[in-house]
Amino acid sequence: MSEIRLGVLALQGAFREHINMLERIGVEAVEVRRAEQLDDLDGLIIPGGESTSMGLVAERWGLVEPLRQWVHMGRPTWGTCAGMILLAEQATGQKQGGQALIGGLDVTVNRNYFGRQVDSFEADLDAPALGETPVHAVFIRAPAITAIADDVEVLTTVPGWGNNHEAVIAAVRKGPILATAFHPELTDDLRWHRYFAQIVRENMQRAD
Ligand code: GLN
Repeated sequence: MSEIRLGVLALQGAFREHINMLERIGVEAVEVRRAEQLDDLDGLIIPGGESTSMGLVAERWGLVEPLRQWVHMGRPTWGTCAGMILLAEQATGQKQGGQALIGGLDVTVNRNYFGRQVDSFEADLDAPALGETPVHAVFIRAPAITAIADDVEVLTTVPGWGNNHEAVIAAVRKGPILATAFHPELTDDLRWHRYFAQIVRENMQRAD
């Protein structure tokens, strides 16, 4: 039984892993490659991978404008890693330009913030919105969120990573938009997928 139908943008990167996680929590999941598919979805995940490549493929396949409209219509969207970069209103450390491709989430991301220092690392992070047990976060050439608008909710931070050893923001939510700098789909912890499915359900109830 699946009362919601979620899409995973399947242009590049770790989309199959997200599909597997959604199936494990009993949610119908489809790989999205065409703009028309968005019409039949209740929510969308933009996976990790490489944001420049993903953006180029999205442009070639005519998906950039439909994705912008999707996000601006307030449809539930979760970006992980490269997907988070694409959702940010501003990005630094870009290969070209400073503007992210899809936007809609009022944050600034630094594209390879953690990746500058180590290619990848794992950490157990507190994320109270998901429960008392810390979440295991896998960071791969990961971005960080370096600035947020007032109404953006911080869900988890990485202690001690900032220039002055302050905590660095690694996951946020703003209404129906969720963004994580790390890859929950590469762990066994289903809580982030459940959390996003709940955002989608709440959004549908509001729309009724
Ligand atoms: N830093 C990468 C980028 O710019 C994202 C890496 C990832 O998604 N694992 O796209």
